[in-house]
Amino acid sequence: MKTHITGGWVVAFNGKSHEVHEQGSVVFDDDKIVHAGPAYAGPADTTIQARGKLVSPGFINTHVHTAGNAGDYLLLDMAKNDYRTSNYMSFAAPLKGKMTPPPAEATAALRTFVFLHALKNGTTTIIDVGGLRGDYDGYARLVDELGVRVYGSPPFRDRDTFMDAKGRLTYEENAEVGRERLQEAVGFVKSYDKTAQGRLRGMLNAAQVETCSERLLREGKDAARQLDVPIHTHAGGNLVEFERIMNEHRKTPIQFLADIGFLDERTLLGHAVFTTAHPWSRYPFGDDVKVLAERGGTIGHCPYKYAKMAMTLHSFQRCVDAGVTVAIGTDTYPMDMLGELRLASLLSKTTDGNYQSGQHRDVFNAATLGGCRFIKRDDLGRLAPGAKADILLITLDQLGTLVYADPIKALIDAGTARDIDTVIVDGKTLVQGGRLTRVDEDAVYAKAREATRTAWTHVPRWRWDGAEVERIIPPAFPIHRAR
Ligand SMILES: [Zn+2]
Repeated sequence: MKTHITGGWVVAFNGKSHEVHEQGSVVFDDDKIVHAGPAYAGPADTTIQARGKLVSPGFINTHVHTAGNAGDYLLLDMAKNDYRTSNYMSFAAPLKGKMTPPPAEATAALRTFVFLHALKNGTTTIIDVGGLRGDYDGYARLVDELGVRVYGSPPFRDRDTFMDAKGRLTYEENAEVGRERLQEAVGFVKSYDKTAQGRLRGMLNAAQVETCSERLLREGKDAARQLDVPIHTHAGGNLVEFERIMNEHRKTPIQFLADIGFLDERTLLGHAVFTTAHPWSRYPFGDDVKVLAERGGTIGHCPYKYAKMAMTLHSFQRCVDAGVTVAIGTDTYPMDMLGELRLASLLSKTTDGNYQSGQHRDVFNAATLGGCRFIKRDDLGRLAPGAKADILLITLDQLGTLVYADPIKALIDAGTARDIDTVIVDGKTLVQGGRLTRVDEDAVYAKAREATRTAWTHVPRWRWDGAEVERIIPPAFPIHRAR
């Protein structure tokens, strides 16, 4: 069935770069685009009116955790004052044996929430870099039923993290457990890759560079090569990790990953904030940005999350200009891709102290084409004949935005996630008029809220000092809660 999107600002791909057509057309036949660019005069079965809207390729969100936002809410609060323990990992590092995984219904509720939250925020390809374990049939079924496009598998590591009774972070290595988890991930890829009409794809996730031994990282990369799938790890994500890798391997995380053959063009690195280029690293030897450019690894840049922690990539523009592939992710909540584009641009300017840093063109490319290199897809992140029909219609002409000359600059300077009117994935309309078409949004939200609140009530059981959520993150003002 042929659908014609007509009358909008069409962001079409000419084989080398995006270009914009005023009152252009996009035509797709089932899941594939057959025309993108100037107005189309041929026949179609359905027409979607897009006047006053941007018709954009869907975004590739390279950093989604399908575990809900219970932990992020604790992690990113500015009331925290202890980087070594509480500020970074304490929410995820429990007293040993005290944290229990959520029940199956809660896991499903949180996964559903994350998939649909990402979708409503403009993500048409979700890179799941690690979520809750278990019920993988249920996971695959959700991807199938909800209509989303996902790359993922359960994360593996052979060093689990715990707090001791004084709140000190400890690492405990178990090679056997690491190998079992890698096998579990390989099994996931073998079972589910290309299922859900091809929308669920496998990739491997070595959890964090410092929670994996060198041997496990090498075995993980070998497995990814054999399966012909991409691989992700968190690297350069915090100073504790940077220093641990320096102590263990006498190299920066980036150089270490390059030297063991982990870093190549099928590798995605979450964050890469702490490199030789970041002032807090205080490591004036070598050039990690150059290493990333030479090896072809992709940085999954998550501007908002890191800005909340007073950190950022040094810098977005420096990496792009050096030839590094930079993609955009959210990691935390909300997964507002338009907010991330604006912050990517602004943080690059303030980091470089340069008005001309953080170009609109480059941040838009990062959220579209940039996310396609490590997954080796030239049919995503662009609107062109032969590409997948993963399309956003974003309302620009309204009093709440502004009067503009360039719709891409208007989008990045003034767009918000709530301007996203329509989301099409694989030719299916999943969001229309800003609402999900396949599920009851309010019911999905209510279930996720219940699972999240339950997780918060369990925090004192596993936290080293037994603190409740309201003590860890005091409210901005006193709250008189309804009884
Ligand atoms: Zn992450």
